[in-house]
Amino acid sequence: MIFLDAAAATPVRREVLEAMWPYLSGEFGNPSSHHSLGDAAAAALAGARDRAAEALGCRPGEVVFTSGGTEADNLAVKGIALARRAADQRLDRVAISAVEHPAVEESARYLQRLHGFAVDVIPVDRYGQVTEEALAAALRPETALASVMYANNEVGTVQPVARLAALARSRGVPLHSDAVQAAGWLPLDVRALGVDALSISGHKLGAPKGCGALFVRGRTRLEPLIHGGGQERGRRSGTENVAGAVALATALSLAVSSREASERVADLRDGFIAAVLAGVPGAVLTGHPAERLPSVASFCFPGTSGESVLLELERQGVICSSGSACAAGSDEPSAVLLAMGIDSAVAQTAVRFSFEPSVTAAELREAAAAVRAAVGSVRTLGAAG
Ligand code: PLP
Repeated sequence: MIFLDAAAATPVRREVLEAMWPYLSGEFGNPSSHHSLGDAAAAALAGARDRAAEALGCRPGEVVFTSGGTEADNLAVKGIALARRAADQRLDRVAISAVEHPAVEESARYLQRLHGFAVDVIPVDRYGQVTEEALAAALRPETALASVMYANNEVGTVQPVARLAALARSRGVPLHSDAVQAAGWLPLDVRALGVDALSISGHKLGAPKGCGALFVRGRTRLEPLIHGGGQERGRRSGTENVAGAVALATALSLAVSSREASERVADLRDGFIAAVLAGVPGAVLTGHPAERLPSVASFCFPGTSGESVLLELERQGVICSSGSACAAGSDEPSAVLLAMGIDSAVAQTAVRFSFEPSVTAAELREAAAAVRAAVGSVRTLGAAG
């Protein structure tokens, strides 16, 4: 089997498992307990926070551990917008890009439905990028928060986050960026990016599912979503997932220290894209041709159905997806592709290939041949049927 769906989930790295194991076994204490087991857990949590902060280029106190990317996005969008409006009733709008993950989009829609916010959707160009002009047009004096993802999960397009953050800052609007897909592939220094909040998730990085973090810049107001014992400095109550935090911090540090994989994988990705475009008549690359994640190659194959191509590819031993795992099985064309101006019939033929850092040239050669064969056979069957 050739696994090309790493944007959905990655296996847990051995080093990560080894680092978290003690906190699932002997060192199982609650970090809030005042005895030696509790102290050991608290020390592990503090160490994990230090390492995560180092990887993100921020202070340890600016890291909030969460249950994953979805919670980090919810906390950023709802937490910052609600806190800012509580301080100033006029701040009743949020601006989000048209290609956000549902964790951001649905958080904004929740603010609209239940809290009376207006949602301004920032359009993207045909490559899925938000331009500075588009962001500038969406920001208003009443905008409490803007959210533009770092890299898109369906097409891999990377946003010019540093420029967008500088623009938002010049208008006094905090910018949140969902870096769930970018983490491990792109620089994550939050000071260089200039963002006010940034979400990451463990299971895209070689840590387990169910752990993530939100960077929140020092004095940013944040209303907690989960109330209770006041853990995470009151920003996220609930007994901390010590093993998960250790896993996330370990995976992040490993990813930062081995980022040379990015260049190697970007070269392999370019070879794979070229082979698919040359081998499959009518294939269309989606997303930005150059400013894209090293790990994502995404296409539409007009004249097929994306789901049939996936099934055929799996029969041939290649595992990939039609876009995002969240939308898998849905008949709706991808909102991301529609926002990029892709026709809805074509959008329904989308297939995404996403790579682990360990992907090899031989695997991608084999996968490109399988794509050629799978699309050919789906088209032949379609024509016959
Ligand atoms: N944001 C993006 C861009 C994602 O790709 C994902 C997961 O696929 C999430 C958020 C949600 O993260 P999690 O699965 O950790 O809740």
